[in-house]
Order: sequence, then C-alpha cells, then structure tokens
Amino acid sequence: MKRTAMIGHLTPAHAGQTVTLQGWVNRRRDLGGLIFLELRDRSGLVQVQVEPDSAAFADADRLRAEYVAEIEGTYQARPESQRKGGLADFEVIATRVKVLNTAKTTPFELEKGDSVAEDIRLKFRYLDLRRPEMQRNLVLRSKAVAAVTEYLDREGFVQVETPMLTKSTPEGARDFLVPSRQNPGEFYALPQSPQLFKQMLMIAGYDRYYQLARCFRDEDLRADRQPDFTQLDMEMSFVELDDVLSTQEGLMAHVFRETLGVELPVPFPRMAYMDAMNLYGSDKPDLRFDLKFADVTDLFQGGEFKAFAAAQAVKVIAAPELTRKQIDELERIAKQNGAGGLAWLKRDGDGFTGGISKFVTAQAAELIARTGVAQGGTLLFTAGEWKKAVGALGAVRLALRDLFDLAAAGPQFHVSWVTEFPQLEFDDDSGTWTYMHHPFTAPHPDDLDLFGTDRQGEIRAQAYDLVLNGFEVGGGSIRIHDPAVQAKMFQAIGFSAEQARDKFGFFMDALEYGTPPHGGIAWGFDRLIMVMSGATSIREVIAFPKNNRGVDLMALAPSPVEPGQLADVGLSVATSEN
Ligand code: ASP
Repeated sequence: MKRTAMIGHLTPAHAGQTVTLQGWVNRRRDLGGLIFLELRDRSGLVQVQVEPDSAAFADADRLRAEYVAEIEGTYQARPESQRKGGLADFEVIATRVKVLNTAKTTPFELEKGDSVAEDIRLKFRYLDLRRPEMQRNLVLRSKAVAAVTEYLDREGFVQVETPMLTKSTPEGARDFLVPSRQNPGEFYALPQSPQLFKQMLMIAGYDRYYQLARCFRDEDLRADRQPDFTQLDMEMSFVELDDVLSTQEGLMAHVFRETLGVELPVPFPRMAYMDAMNLYGSDKPDLRFDLKFADVTDLFQGGEFKAFAAAQAVKVIAAPELTRKQIDELERIAKQNGAGGLAWLKRDGDGFTGGISKFVTAQAAELIARTGVAQGGTLLFTAGEWKKAVGALGAVRLALRDLFDLAAAGPQFHVSWVTEFPQLEFDDDSGTWTYMHHPFTAPHPDDLDLFGTDRQGEIRAQAYDLVLNGFEVGGGSIRIHDPAVQAKMFQAIGFSAEQARDKFGFFMDALEYGTPPHGGIAWGFDRLIMVMSGATSIREVIAFPKNNRGVDLMALAPSPVEPGQLADVGLSVATSEN
C-alpha cells in the first residue's frame, strides 16, 4: 500500500515528514497561482498546497471536486499567522499528485448535505455517505456493535442466527410474505422478530442468547420506522425481572461509556405504566425535564363547567406564560392527539384570568396548590376519556419542551424503565381483548386469577420498556413458561386452541418439553443509535434506508418483476383499472 497514513491519523509528530495520502478532493481553490486542495478520507480532512513551479502542478490542475487522488508531500505547520490551534494548523506541500480517478459533477454539493432534499440524498446515497456526518453515524453504530458483542460475550451470551424465511411472529404488524417456488401457493413470512426462536433456544438449553437481528414489519412508516430494521435481541434463562433489568443496565452503561465516553447512572429509575401515563401522558416519557401533570378530576366533578363535570379524567399542566397564539398552536396539537380541546387559565394573584376563568372560583386555591403555577403562568387542561386526556396533554408537554427548550437543562441522556404494563388491552375497533406486548409475556403471578373476569384489564404484565430521551429504545418481558398459563392467555385474546395450534403449534409443542423460566428484551438498535448520535431520523443511522413511502430510491425497490419470475412461484399480478 502506498498510503502512509489515513488523514485523520496524522499528528503534529508527523511534521516535517513526507507523507502519501489517498482520498477524495473535497474542494479546490486557486489563489495567486497556487492550487489549494482539501483532501478527504473517512478519517479526516487536510489542506494541500500545490505551488506553481512544483512538478505536481500539472496533475493537480486536473483535479476537480470528488476526484480520487494520491498526494505525496511534506506535512508541515502552516505559517504562524494562519494558525488557529488543532490539526487545521497543518497542511501538506505537494511534491507529487496522481489522479486515481475522475468524477462527474455531483448532483448536490456534499457540504450542503443536510439542507439537500432527502430524496436526492437517498438516490445518490453513496455520495451522501461520503459526508463526515454520515460517516460519524455509521462509525458510531459499528462501535456500538463492538461494545455490545464484547459485553455480552463476557457475560456468557451465545450469538445464534435465526431464520429469515420463516413463519409469522405476532408483534402487531403485517407480515412481509415470500412465495415459495418449491411449494406453490405457500408462503414464508419474514420475521417481525426472532421471538419464538429465541424462546426455543432457551428451551434448548442455551441459557443466554443474543443476535443483531434484522426484523421486518409491514406498517405505515413514520420518522423513526423502517420496513426492515435491526434489533439487538436477547434472552436469558433462570432469571427474574430484576436480573434482566440489571444485566441490561450494565450493557447499556458499557455501550455509552465505550462509544461516547458518557457515564450513565445505574440502576435506571423505574416507573409503572400507570404513573407514566398519569404524570407524563406517555408510556415513554421524556424525563430529561420534569413538568408533571396534576389530576384535578375531583375539583370539577358535577360542577357548572360542563366539559369537565362528567369527565373521566381532568388533567392539568403548569406552563410558563403563553401568548394566545402559542395557546392556539398547543390546542391544535392537543386536538390532533385526541382531545376535544385545550382549556386554559392564566394565574393572576390568588386567582385566574382568561380562558375558562369564569368557571373557576372555588377551585382557584386548590389549583394553585396542586400545580404550583407561577404568577403569570398558564394552566393547560385536557378532559374526557382517561387515555385520550392524558395522551393529548402528553403531546402538549412535548410541545412545551420544544417551545421552551426544556430538555436542555437536563442530562444529555436520560434512560429509564417503564414497567407494569397491562397484560391485555381492549381494542375498541374489533371489540376484543388483545395483548399489549405479545402473547408470550408472563402476567404478574398475583394477577393470574383475573383472567376471564371483568377485571382482565387490570392484569399487570411482567413487561418492561427501556426509554431514552422520550424514545422507546427497547422492550421485553418475562415469558410464560407454563403451558397452562399460555393457554389462558390465548383464550383471553380470543384464540381458540385450534387457532393457536395452527399459528404456533411448533412452539406450543416445545413448551411442553421442559421449558425453563426465562425472559428477555430487544433493543430497537437503529433508534438507539439515532438518539445517541443526535440525529432526528433513523434514516440518518442506516446506510441504505427506504424513504417514508417504503421505497429504496437508489436501488429502486420495490419494482415489478418479469412475468416468468411470477410464473415460477405460481403468482400473477391482478391489474386494476385505476
Ligand atoms: N420480541 C419483542 C419485540 O420485538 C421483544 C421481546 O419481547 O424480547 O418487541
């Protein structure tokens, strides 16, 4: 190899030495007969000066942005007057330039990357990935994988790969299906997660398993979703909830320490689902700042303010002083998130003005006491069905965070657990009970008797979510290992014995052959790296992502296929008129 060092590995100790560097021309400027180049590789950027009388000049003169070049020269400090401190104080005086390859004019200026339309960045992703920001994200991701592997290896976890062409796993999304040529009319499903396989590895006695698993879920995309994404999937045998949580805390702290040099305080705080919803209106509360809700349902029950009088829940949050325009905007957000409206009051002395103040007289002192609202501050209320009232006020809380930059005063990273999720949730659309995490999650042993009663909704699951800065970055549970409990669970969600057998017969069989108590978790690895890197979309931490319509704009997937390929798998495409 001709290269003597990567650019970012040059240090002041190289000063005075002849170096050979290879990379891309980041920029070229001509000044007073000199050519100034910036040469870039994955590790860094260096300025190169080519003097008019140097043997390198003619070749250097051919270089344009994004040409690939080899440059030999002397690494030296820049003139005193141009030094600012750091490595930018050094430059290369070229003695030889070799053009290794030319490049067409790029469709966007790489240095403008962030402000370029995302579709263009994705179409020319190989150029976008040249940008230092993208390289930093992917290197962080690679370092995080290394830290995970190192830690879990040390803790005795065995890495096992599970199949991509498999049967449906219930994680609440639609499956991606793959037709089988050898078995016409039959389909594989791509895994929504390795859930059943990792549980079978526990039954098989592997004790501790992990895998960086590609998962596939066909659902409507949002900023932090992709149809294929990566989970760090783990499972442990002979453990209870506390064991899983403390292993995870050690792992997460290790990853942050090794990759970012950040010390996360352990153990992570735990909050029950009901508290998270009642206090913050979210099952993934952003706890970098506080701003809790107060419950004031009782203060308005049966009173003259009709919107609150019969409400199942009335929740209030104490915001700083707000303008009418800001209140209107927050009301729009509340409504978008299911509230009928956003009532408000402005504190004035011992009472309130504005908004619903004419209905608030007797309650004033108690409202001030419960919310601690400051003079001039604004109280914002949602009311109605509990889940809608808390959810909408939760969205308002996050909007206040963004409006007043409330998270800035808190820690850079706040990790916590949300626990005690309900085992079952009533689905209004289908009018049936369904699982909240997945049907293999173990209920709290004290709540087993509630199955099949009208208090099913109160059964607590031994489930937990890992929350980082308001993002759910992991979720898992202790699993059912008793076939009788598994049968109860299937019954509760309206699965007949036959249906359960049809879908998961192999798993139900396996459960009967000596299943150890076990539990685990999966991290949403893309989302975790997104938050760690400070990016706002998981597309920023995935090398070749799809856009928010599920399209790979570079490879142009999905795409039609040859009729012969369809015939091979016994399919034809139904064409519609429109
Ligand atoms: N399989 C679960 C999921 O994908 C994670 C787990 O329970 O371990 O959410």
